Amino acid sequence: MPERDRIKGYWRPELETIDPQARQEYLDPKVAEIVAHAYANAPAFKQKMASVGAEPGDVVSVADLSKLPITEKGELVTLQQQDLPFGGLVGVPLSKMRRIYVSPGPIYEPGEKRFTDDRWTQAFFAAGFRPGDIAQVTFNFNMVPFAFYLDEALNLMDAVSIPAGVGNTELQIQVMKDLKVQGYLGTPSFLAAIADKAEAAGLDLLRDLNLKVAFVAAEMLPESLRASLQERLGMIIRQSYGTADVGCLSYECYHTGGMHFAQDCVVEVVDPETGQPVAEGEPGEVVATIFDKAYPLIRFGTGDLSSYVNDTCACGRTSPKLTRIMGRVDQVTKVKGMFVHPSGVQQVAAKFPQVQMFQLVVTREANQDVMTLVCELAEPTADREMLRAALEKEIKEGLRVKGQVNFQEPGSLPEGCKVIDDRRKWD
Ligand SMILES: [Zn+2]
Repeated sequence: MPERDRIKGYWRPELETIDPQARQEYLDPKVAEIVAHAYANAPAFKQKMASVGAEPGDVVSVADLSKLPITEKGELVTLQQQDLPFGGLVGVPLSKMRRIYVSPGPIYEPGEKRFTDDRWTQAFFAAGFRPGDIAQVTFNFNMVPFAFYLDEALNLMDAVSIPAGVGNTELQIQVMKDLKVQGYLGTPSFLAAIADKAEAAGLDLLRDLNLKVAFVAAEMLPESLRASLQERLGMIIRQSYGTADVGCLSYECYHTGGMHFAQDCVVEVVDPETGQPVAEGEPGEVVATIFDKAYPLIRFGTGDLSSYVNDTCACGRTSPKLTRIMGRVDQVTKVKGMFVHPSGVQQVAAKFPQVQMFQLVVTREANQDVMTLVCELAEPTADREMLRAALEKEIKEGLRVKGQVNFQEPGSLPEGCKVIDDRRKWD
């Protein structure tokens, strides 16, 4: 059982438990301020606003953000190559920066002089990190910003960081043991590798290590892996979602069931075609606005597909939760007005072990989209009609679009075929 004081509490109680309406009122002036700042200092943003005929006075609230176009990550590389190093998306002179990070692309990222962004700190606290913890950061410190952000964010909460970086598993285990490290920051797969290697070296994971809490990111965290690691290491394992560009956008609390939107930023889930916010529960692109004056990213499109829920959470935090990340926006297909992603189809099929191979085929008949799940069964099933009905129900619930099922003989679908085959012709 985790220690009780790691489960309770907040890093920014005044914001984390605020009434949602009051949160909007808190965020509105911050939006107005960063938009005015970016307009005055970042020429690329000014141009972006001009492209839709907007001026700073037009965007003074969270709701006004939907007037602005989305800046997709891919645009950063183009903008920067036209105007090195930052493509006109920078809000302060070089003398006001601490570092320049280099992300794959390459994309050059200005780092603020004094690190004030506490969104990762909120995430750590929600996961169960506490002041005075020693935490081992096993993300890459080579050029890219993420590990530095985490190191700074640990410092903000008076936790102590060991900048361990990647690899060196044996040394990492020795450090963990010698320093009685409580916190782990890294990928879930590296934590599993550490546990395996420590056991192989004869260590008792619970007695010889002192791990209490892990913050994992950058990889999928299957629930089975979370459960086994929590059990083996006797620790809490929580995940977050964010990107190198916009930082932390959401994080799990002790009660899981999604990732609470972080405070002090605006997270939107939007229709990738129109850029307009979608309703609760509907899939869309995660778009973020952050208040970093050095690197003002406003309506930055992450390219990741998710949805959000507004349920009340036992932890007392009042922000909505992002559900899981469903995949990349460029892989979605729009069917009858709804976005369908390969991972959604895989989830539906995974509930039916009888289905050995499958493909979702989208066609158009009489100006209507038709969605058919083509299935090959492992063995002939006695009651195909019952299976068909169950599959069709699951399709409607899981994908939120009505679809039909077509059983085919084994071998009909080519090995390794794509999950969604969109056969619609639009000419
Ligand atoms: Zn919660």
